Amino acid sequence: EAKSNGKNRYVFYTQDMTDTIVKSTKLDNEIKRALDNDEFVLYYQPQIDLKTKKVIGIEALIRWNEPSKGILGPNVFIPRAEENRLIIPMGEMVFKKALQQVKQWSEEKLLTGRMAINISGIQIEEENFVDRLEAIRKEIGVDASLIELEVTESYIMTKAESSILMLQELQDLGFSIAVDDFGTGYSSLSYLKQLPLQKLKIDRSFIKDLPYDYEDRAILRAIVSLAQGLRLEVLAEGVEEEEQEEFLLKNGCHLAQGFLFAKPMSAEACEEYLRQN
Ligand code: C2E
Ligand code: MG
Ligand code: MG
Ligand code: MG
Repeated sequence: EAKSNGKNRYVFYTQDMTDTIVKSTKLDNEIKRALDNDEFVLYYQPQIDLKTKKVIGIEALIRWNEPSKGILGPNVFIPRAEENRLIIPMGEMVFKKALQQVKQWSEEKLLTGRMAINISGIQIEEENFVDRLEAIRKEIGVDASLIELEVTESYIMTKAESSILMLQELQDLGFSIAVDDFGTGYSSLSYLKQLPLQKLKIDRSFIKDLPYDYEDRAILRAIVSLAQGLRLEVLAEGVEEEEQEEFLLKNGCHLAQGFLFAKPMSAEACEEYLRQN
């Protein structure tokens, strides 16, 4: 680090460091501009009940419709938006759009389940996070029971003490909470027991080698039995193969999401999907 080098020493930046700084500043400006120009859109991926084959919910996933580059995934801009805190206005935009969409689809009886919305830890730590969500919900006029907030296991568990109260407030308001990427974040069982949660979403890394990988089979069964014991819903992420679906069904994991059923789609494509299913 430049500062710790002390006096009489050369302070230098490598070309690599300079490149990173320039790139970040450029990306910061591009994200700001994209927010102003309303270039961020939501894609939607259905969640399926394997027993009935019915859609039980939909996850909203952000995309950047960049005028010259086309549709870009969240890995290109979410990490930076978390660093420069633009995730706050971005997250609020996501929340508004997802709520408007679930309102429309519910009113048209195209969807009976919940809309799942990913929430970044940076958003949660904002002073007035709960109040802002509730204000937006009221303004749009959609029932909180139609909204599921996805928070990653790694975030919940590193901030468990402070999360409990806030998640309780959200639950009291009627929102559901799902633990995203479950299995990758060092869950403490005593916290899992106390936290007001509705759903565990098993991370795709445990699904991808099913049904062949011995360890993954054991992990899957253990998570399902934990979820049943704690009376939580359990959903498998990233289901791509029929053999995986079969294994999940046989082992008590009845909810799934993945390319096998549907990829994330534009609002128009998802609406068409809902009409046909
Ligand atoms: P996530 O919430 O765990 O979302 C699941 C990711 O897996 C999505 O990637 C989805 O497109 C992908 N996926 C779904 N089914 C399959 C499958 O069968 N196979 C494979 N290989 N992948 C599948 P995506 O859309 O690129 O999102 C990546 C991550 O970005 C999300 O992980 C979430 O953490 C974050 N993210 C997405 N949208 C938002 C948002 O609106 N706000 C925030 N804060 N984060 C978001
Ligand atoms: Mg998610
Ligand atoms: Mg996930
Ligand atoms: Mg193995």
